[in-house]
Amino acid sequence: MQIKRLRLSGFKSFVDPAELRIEPGLTGIVGPNGCGKSNLLEALRWTMGENSAKSMRGAGMEDVIFAGTATRPQRDFAEVSILAEQAGDEELEVVRRIERGAGSAYRINGRDVRAKDVALLFADSATGAHSPALVSQGRIGAIIMAKPGERRAMLEEAAGISGLHVRRKDAEQKLRATEANLTRLDELISDQE
Ligand code: ATP
Repeated sequence: MQIKRLRLSGFKSFVDPAELRIEPGLTGIVGPNGCGKSNLLEALRWTMGENSAKSMRGAGMEDVIFAGTATRPQRDFAEVSILAEQAGDEELEVVRRIERGAGSAYRINGRDVRAKDVALLFADSATGAHSPALVSQGRIGAIIMAKPGERRAMLEEAAGISGLHVRRKDAEQKLRATEANLTRLDELISDQE
């Protein structure tokens, strides 16, 4: 998967609609301290399903919405869209939107989806909110200090297999529910006999 464009509106310091095109090769973002470079990386991770307010440098999830300045009022929503190209030149637009008091909603190519669908989509493409491809400040130190289990999780993200764990958990839950149904069925059958 190749990310081609990021669009932000009302996200953190990006109060006005902004667009960042990501061309093949290396993309650099330069600017003075506090101009919003890290906010761009956070916008990517947030749209991929990041749900930890702390890793978004906020106290709550609504802190990603533009909070207002001395000259501009706060916004009621934030929206970020990622345009990506998958193998076979298929274009994919993933949108996450948060409204004050109403939580987050996700769309893939205009269709409402669950947060989990978005997380799986990116995990299968070896990217995602926790992907080692997104290196934020302090991350290098965290990798060096990581415990073996944490390091394995990073390698699994990089290999694009972390989505399998989620599917395995789902499958195990379904299996347990089916086993419980079977046990109940056996009981009902023996009651009838
Ligand atoms: P540095 O080079 O110092 O790391 P940076 O370019 O990465 O800086 P960011 O950390 O991305 O900058 O941006 C910080 C700016 O974003 C601050 O000015 C902060 O006030 C602003 N900001 C963060 N959250 C919000 C919000 N919810 N509403 C308005 N502004 C916000």
